[in-house]
Amino acid sequence: MKYFFKDIEKIEFSEIFHDEESCLKFLANEKWEKGFVCRKCGHTNYCKGKKPFSRRCTKCKAEESATAHTVFHRCRIPLTDAFKITFMVCHSPDISTYEISRKIEIRQMTCWKFKKKIVECIDDRGDLDILQKVELKQNLGV
Ligand SMILES: [Zn+2]
Repeated sequence: MKYFFKDIEKIEFSEIFHDEESCLKFLANEKWEKGFVCRKCGHTNYCKGKKPFSRRCTKCKAEESATAHTVFHRCRIPLTDAFKITFMVCHSPDISTYEISRKIEIRQMTCWKFKKKIVECIDDRGDLDILQKVELKQNLGV
């Protein structure tokens, strides 16, 4: 994955991720960049799933959403806001959650929790790794 959240310009960012669909599309493109592999049976053929941008294995019918196994899975805030927080944190890692809270009008505690999650997933290039650390933690059973 290339530098993304860190290098993109603010104007460009808000143009691309203006709705939930565009965030899901981005996640789907990133996670299945090298193609789809079913996590249950290893099959590589898929069809469209029920949810937007989810994929369904044509063999075992297991469906995987675009957010599954990413930092944004089961996110309690709208995906567009989660993306905005990620953008802010990647650009200014020291930004306070009070400031984030003011900017996107979401409770400070919610911002704090999400920022904590993001910070844990920022890689050594200072950009968000949407998949790797999450996978690692799941493998370790954390
Ligand atoms: Zn399958």
